[in-house]
Amino acid sequence: MEAEIIAVGTELLLGDILNTNARFLSRELAGLGISVHFQTVVGDNPGRLESVVQMARARSDLLVFSGGLGPTKDDLTKETVARAFGDPLRLDAEELEKIRAFFTAAGRTMPENNRKQAMTPVYGRKIPNENGTAPGMIFEDRLSPGKYAVLLPGPPKELQPMFLNGVKPWLAAMSDSVLHSLTLRVTGIGESHLESKVGPLLQNANPTAAVYAKTSEVILRITAKAEDEAAAERMCQEYAQHFYKALGDCVYAVDKDSLEQVVVETLAAHGLTVATAESCTGGLLSQRITSVPGASEVFAYGACTYANGIKQKMLGVKAETLAQYGAVSPETAAEMARGVRAAAGADFGVGITGIAGPGGGTPEKPVGLVYAAACSGDITYVQRLVVPGRTREVVRISATQRALEMVRRLALKLPQPGCAAFAAEQPAHMPAEQAPAHNG
Ligand code: ATP
Ligand code: MG
Repeated sequence: MEAEIIAVGTELLLGDILNTNARFLSRELAGLGISVHFQTVVGDNPGRLESVVQMARARSDLLVFSGGLGPTKDDLTKETVARAFGDPLRLDAEELEKIRAFFTAAGRTMPENNRKQAMTPVYGRKIPNENGTAPGMIFEDRLSPGKYAVLLPGPPKELQPMFLNGVKPWLAAMSDSVLHSLTLRVTGIGESHLESKVGPLLQNANPTAAVYAKTSEVILRITAKAEDEAAAERMCQEYAQHFYKALGDCVYAVDKDSLEQVVVETLAAHGLTVATAESCTGGLLSQRITSVPGASEVFAYGACTYANGIKQKMLGVKAETLAQYGAVSPETAAEMARGVRAAAGADFGVGITGIAGPGGGTPEKPVGLVYAAACSGDITYVQRLVVPGRTREVVRISATQRALEMVRRLALKLPQPGCAAFAAEQPAHMPAEQAPAHNG
C-alpha cells in the first residue's frame, strides 16, 4: 500500500508551527510497513486543497490528512475530500449531541458553526475523538474502490490517540503480515565508518535495516515482515547477530532509549556508583544521568566546577597542574575525575574539561577540544576528543556521550579504545601530538 500525508493549514506554510503531525504519521505508517511516498503541506485554500486531493488520489492508495476539521469556514478538508471521493455528507444527530455535551461539560453553549463538525460521510465512517469536538473520518473512494482517505484533526493531542486507537488497528487488519522492529544503538563509531563496515547488510529486502545518525551515536533499525509477531521477532534477532559480529561492543543497547539509561542500569546491576565533575558541559552529564529513574542508586555527586579556583578547592586539582598544563588538559581532566571520586567515595569518577566555543579557542587548543577522564580506584582513562566546527550544544552533547561511554566500559570491564590509561596517582601526561583524537 502506498500512502501520502497531507497537512492542511496556512499556519504551517507561514512557519508559525512545525509539522510534527507529518513526522508522527510517517513513523507510524512506516512501522506498519506502509510506504509513504509524499508529504504535502497546503494552506486553507479551497482551490489548492482540491488540486492536492485530486493529484494524491490519482497516485496513492491511502491519503492521510491532518488539520482543517475545525468549525470555521476556512476548515475545508472534510468537504473537499467528500466531494472528490464521491461520498455525500449528512448531519449526524449522535455526533451533534456529543459535541453539544462537550460544550455543556465545559460550561458553555455550543456555537452554531460547530454543527459543521457533526457532518459525517454517508458511506465512510467516523473516528471518535475523546479529546476534542471534531470526529475523524475514513472515506473509501466511491469512484476508485480500494483507495482511502483518513482525516484527522490538527491538534497533536487529538490526532495521535485517534490514529493509534481508531486508524492503526484498521490498517493492521487490512495487511496480511505483521512487522516487528529492533533498534540497536551504536556509539564510538561514526555513520560513514559504520556504513563501510555493514554496508551490504543495509541492502536486504526482509528484514530491512536502516541507519539514522544522531549526535554522537547511530541508530540501526531492523524491521522484519512475517506472518506472525513471533516469526518477525525471530527474524530481527537473527539478523541483529550480523551487526553484533561486525560492530562488537560498540552496540551498546537493544531497544533502549539512551546511553544514560544503559549506564544507570549497568551500574545498578553491578552495585557500582559514579560521581562527576564537569567544566565545559556545565552539568549536562549529571542532568543526563539523573533524568533516568533510579539514578539515585548509582549517582553519588555531580559537581559543576567552572572556575580554576573551584577545581582546586572542591576537587583538589593541583595549582601546578593548572599553571603548567592549563584547565583544558588531560592532566586536569584526570585530577577532576580522581578528586570527585574521592570526595564522593564513589567507585568511579568522571572529569570533563574543554572548549565549547564559540569563543575561547587557540591554535593549540581549538574550539571543540575536550578531555574526558574516567577513573576507578586503580586506573584512569583519558580521551582526547575534537568536535570540529560544531556548535556549543553539539560539543557538550558529544563530550557527555564520550564520558558516559567510558563509564559503561569501566563498569563492564571492556577495553577503552582511543583512550590513554594511567595508573592511580600517575599524572595523566598525554602530549596532544601523540594523542589520537576521537572526532566527536
Ligand atoms: P481545530 O478544531 O482546533 O481548528 P483543525 O483540525 O481545524 O482543528 P487546524 O485548525 O488546522 O486543525 O489546527 C489546529 C491546531 O493544531 C494548530 O493551531 C496547531 O497548534 C495544531 N496543528 C495543526 N496542524 C499541525 C501539524 N501538521 N503538526 C503539528 N501541529 C499541528
Ligand atoms: Mg481549524
